[in-house]
Amino acid sequence: MKARRALSEFRNEPLTDFSLPENRKAMQNAIEQVRSELGKEYPLIINGERVWLDKKFASINPANKSQIVGVFSDADSDATNLVERAIESAYEAFKSWQFVDPEERAEYLFRAAEIIRHRKHYFSAWMIFEVGKTWAEADADTAEAIDFLEFYGREMIRWAGPQPLIPSPLPEKNELKYIPLGVGAIIPPWNFPLAIMCGMTVSAVVTGNTTVLKPSPDAPTIAYKFMEVLEEVGLPKGVVNFLAGSGTIVGELLVAHPKIRFISFTGSKAVGLKIYEEAAKTKPGQKWMKRVVAEMGGKDAIIVCEDANLEEAALGIVQSAFGFQGQKCSACSRLIVDEKVHDALLDKILEMTKNLKIGDPTEPETQMSAVINQKAFDKAISMIEKGIEEGGKILTGGKGDNSIGFYVEPTIIGDVKPGSTIEQVEIFAPVLAVIKVKNYDEALEVANDTEYGLTGSVYSTSQEKLERAKREFHVGNLYLNRKCTGALVGVHPFGGFNMSGTDSKAGGREYLLHFMQAKSIAQKI
Ligand code: NAD
Repeated sequence: MKARRALSEFRNEPLTDFSLPENRKAMQNAIEQVRSELGKEYPLIINGERVWLDKKFASINPANKSQIVGVFSDADSDATNLVERAIESAYEAFKSWQFVDPEERAEYLFRAAEIIRHRKHYFSAWMIFEVGKTWAEADADTAEAIDFLEFYGREMIRWAGPQPLIPSPLPEKNELKYIPLGVGAIIPPWNFPLAIMCGMTVSAVVTGNTTVLKPSPDAPTIAYKFMEVLEEVGLPKGVVNFLAGSGTIVGELLVAHPKIRFISFTGSKAVGLKIYEEAAKTKPGQKWMKRVVAEMGGKDAIIVCEDANLEEAALGIVQSAFGFQGQKCSACSRLIVDEKVHDALLDKILEMTKNLKIGDPTEPETQMSAVINQKAFDKAISMIEKGIEEGGKILTGGKGDNSIGFYVEPTIIGDVKPGSTIEQVEIFAPVLAVIKVKNYDEALEVANDTEYGLTGSVYSTSQEKLERAKREFHVGNLYLNRKCTGALVGVHPFGGFNMSGTDSKAGGREYLLHFMQAKSIAQKI
């Protein structure tokens, strides 16, 4: 299956304009379609075979917790055996998949992109039900998944081409080839359940590796729908094996297995560090040092200077703090504002926040919905209490209601002190801490004073201040005079510093190198 067409230059998938009646109708139809498919049972997939187990777990709609989205065979119930089988299947598949022409491997991705593009709203609708994304957020997630498929396919073709080397002083022909690593464990989070899960899986696959995908237990249905796409494009059996189960059982067994060559993880700092440590322990029979790509959390800040355009800053802050209920690793959870514009900015932010429409994400007008689960709800509420206890003042929100779904009000806490708990710990909910500072020096100092370094933004009309941010604001993704969320594949390669992870820069030109090793070949002539 060779690439049969001239490839166009990569461009990001456009977002859907839901103000157009035909697009609204198409999304409404997709929502009704998915609604009619809720509650079905799904198996595991090992070597292309469906594996049904007696023990099941359910994925529920966080915005309407009595609604079951999908029921999954639970790999935890026979984990040692199933992990072994899935890894063996991937190991067997690797024997041939590693030698498949890279262009042919890329072609599977391009065809998967076509299918998802064609059924875009169907995939978005699954995310609306399974993780509580609004229409716009779900649409962006699907577009990003398409981008990863199109981008990594092209990137693989680029890396498979001749690589530049210095001419040899010896009579020999030299080349450098990128070859895959082996069998990888793919462990994604639930918050970009299509885009990140898809990007992590296909980057490993297009580079010639085979995988065991363990989706988040909070978003297995969308991952299963993606597995169906891979089957539809004819990806050989065993290249991606699907094990739905918990991180602490199936995830840990995968990470520890001696035949796992690399782990591609995106999730919290605590789990990322645990994986990093476990992966470093060499098991009997293990022939390599495991590679770990770990993209983790953030405590992202937006700095607003005294000379900023406050209208634009307020909009960017509200979008960054409350989009998808603050559940993005890039979400703004700290507003660091110059005291001279503090009150004027807060007035604007509070007005915008109070106008946010919160509710059922299947409704087109909804701008915010529920957080993912009871644990996330409890953490948000306890962090709000902690913020008050440590001297913070609730400016809006502060309450939750979990009677129907896990709803947390968009919450802004003023008078937060640098170094206090809610200024340091990732909350991953719609909770914004406001820190008042005297000047830009102090703003940068506070911004950099966490263990994370993922995204950040500065609003200022002074180019000098923006230049300083370029040098001194220590984050993997810096934004100037714009919101700190919404990284685009290829445009804003994504990944953070320090405890935000290994800075793998997903959607960037070096990303695929994480899943390959270079072989230098010299032949005497
Ligand atoms: P999580 O760490 O709870 O879980 C992530 C994945 O790890 C899940 O599949 C889970 O089942 C699995 N897991 C849990 N414990 C494990 C263990 N002991 N061994 C192996 N696997 C295990 O994170 P989450 O709640 O799914 O996602 C939210 C987190 O992800 C936030 O911290 C967010 O900032 C981060 N995130 C980071 C990025 C990024 O690019 N830096 C992107 C999205 C999300």
